[in-house]
Amino acid sequence: MPYKKWYIVFLMFVMAASAISGEADKFFKPDLGKKISTCINCGEDIYENMMTKVDLILKGKDPEYACSLPCAIKLIDNSDRYVDMYVKEYYSGRMISAANAIFVLGGNHHPANAIFPVMVFDRQDRAVYFVSQHGGSIFGTESILKLARENGVNDYSRVFYPDPGEKIGVCYHCEQPVYEKQLTRLEIITDKGIVNACGLKCAMIKMDGSNLSNIKVINFTTGFPFGIEKAWFVINSNVLPNAGEMPVLAFKEKMIAEEFIKIHRGMLLTSAEIIELMKKVTY
Ligand SMILES: [Zn+2]
Ligand SMILES: [Zn+2]
Repeated sequence: MPYKKWYIVFLMFVMAASAISGEADKFFKPDLGKKISTCINCGEDIYENMMTKVDLILKGKDPEYACSLPCAIKLIDNSDRYVDMYVKEYYSGRMISAANAIFVLGGNHHPANAIFPVMVFDRQDRAVYFVSQHGGSIFGTESILKLARENGVNDYSRVFYPDPGEKIGVCYHCEQPVYEKQLTRLEIITDKGIVNACGLKCAMIKMDGSNLSNIKVINFTTGFPFGIEKAWFVINSNVLPNAGEMPVLAFKEKMIAEEFIKIHRGMLLTSAEIIELMKKVTY
């Protein structure tokens, strides 16, 4: 069962991520913007740029906020003042009515600090395009709310459907499995063929600064490897790659990385800058 197998990988990632030192947490903390409220159901802080935040419109009252769909559902099911809810669209960052939204679960990245890691789209063709780039499964409003209602707020493992693609090997350093669609993976070209690394930190063990032309990273936009020297890196955005020990996204085009940051926040770094950063991070 590939879903089950991948979930184990995801758990390993969570374990690896939680093992990152306090120092690394400082470098990779997702930038969710300013705090605007707390969740009406669970009390979790709600930030302006949290991908999963839900704005609840209530008759004769100020709007309320929920951290995610399962928390929003609790209010909807127990309030006669509920009018509508707005969810954050992936490509524009705009809040759109959930009634007309298309939802995607899974794929090769997910919203940061989400208890229900769903991505929202305003049009079917945009959701289809996203899935063609990043994988995942498409849901309509009724079916996503049914899933949110059934799963509640505590266990999103059953609704997490990452699509990592084929396993292509293991990391030469830490021996974690490496998957084709894993955003953090690197290819290191050696005399003996291509060596896989799960992420930049592991790859750096083979990097002495002089052999960068032998290293390829994965383009966030296409999923294809390209030379690290020409790459632009984004850290601290409001989305996280689904696997790999350091949440770093690589882009081939600077303009696309800048567009991504406008919506998803984070910081743009050159390959030289990310390598310097990796030297400071321990795990
Ligand atoms: Zn909540
Ligand atoms: Zn590794």
